[in-house]
Amino acid sequence: MNDCRAAVITAHNQPLEILSVPIPELEPGALLVRMEASTLCGTDVHRWHGPLPSGDSLPVITGHEPCGTVEEINGARTDILGNPVSVGDRIVWSYVACGSCYYCSVALQPCICPGRASWGHNRSDEYPYLLGSCAEYMYVPPPCLIIKVPEEVSSQSAAASACAYRTVMHGFDRLGPVKSHETVLIQGSGPLGNFAAAVAKDHGAKQVLLIGAPAARLAVSQRMGADAVLDLESVTDPQDRRDWVRGLTAGRGADVVIQVANNQAVAEGLTMLRAGGRFLDIGGGSEKAEIDVARLPKEMTYMTIRSAEPRHWLQAIDFLASRRDRFPFEDMISESYELDQINEAMAAMASYKVVKAAIKFA
Ligand SMILES: [Zn+2]
Ligand SMILES: [Zn+2]
Repeated sequence: MNDCRAAVITAHNQPLEILSVPIPELEPGALLVRMEASTLCGTDVHRWHGPLPSGDSLPVITGHEPCGTVEEINGARTDILGNPVSVGDRIVWSYVACGSCYYCSVALQPCICPGRASWGHNRSDEYPYLLGSCAEYMYVPPPCLIIKVPEEVSSQSAAASACAYRTVMHGFDRLGPVKSHETVLIQGSGPLGNFAAAVAKDHGAKQVLLIGAPAARLAVSQRMGADAVLDLESVTDPQDRRDWVRGLTAGRGADVVIQVANNQAVAEGLTMLRAGGRFLDIGGGSEKAEIDVARLPKEMTYMTIRSAEPRHWLQAIDFLASRRDRFPFEDMISESYELDQINEAMAAMASYKVVKAAIKFA
């Protein structure tokens, strides 16, 4: 076993290629994981279409939402809860911050550590090669924290927790408690929006409103806890959308707005927030959006997050396991593909045909 198959971006906007990539020697403390599932994220599509603002150097194995089974460990490892990790365990694993820079050690904000490692953008022709999730195997560097996946959580849901769901958990962490009289408005009906609906409902919001499209995604939003949804494709006038939110909040606007669509949605979302409310901006992209500062709600709080800390991976997996009877998490992943069908899967994500596409490994 010297190499394995991987879906590689060799040129922007060109079909991905299935290539043979070396399986590396393990450093002490590193693991080799046989992939069970890899879910695709909007960022994978953006990176495929063109270099992200952070810059990418090709070739790159696409994908950063992995769940796999431990095949080999170099030395003894424990998981995030202190339990031993063994060959055969199904796991997800966190990104790694440097631990010694200003952000890591003084500000205690490791997600903005400049030396932080993450997956799906590393060159596949340089050691340790296998740092993207659309491959038969993945390399887990020694500093990664390991989270075991309980039997009741599917591999594809666990994979989605490795970016989409743990990001939502980080967002709620920053947001602080949601009170029982509060209305949470979510902009976006993708995996983050729908997962956020479930978490908002679970955390005790009085009502969860969600604005998104298309209708098929909104049907999932409702099963995931949204009390009322508004279809962007049928309500095209922003004033009508504002009136909808105000009508459901005694004219005030939402107590909390969570933006998980794109930068363009921020300006509209701010007009739907009540004075003194909290705005959590998660949805990204590189488009420029303008905000009229003079019209911001008075005494509001604006929060952004980046990625997540290791505990949020654990919280996401734990939420999937412990709330599985309440929310149909499997409905969030609408289509599964083989590794060979990577171009079909990426195209489906790019066209918003699916809520989330998963690559399954035999
Ligand atoms: Zn992602
Ligand atoms: Zn650091």
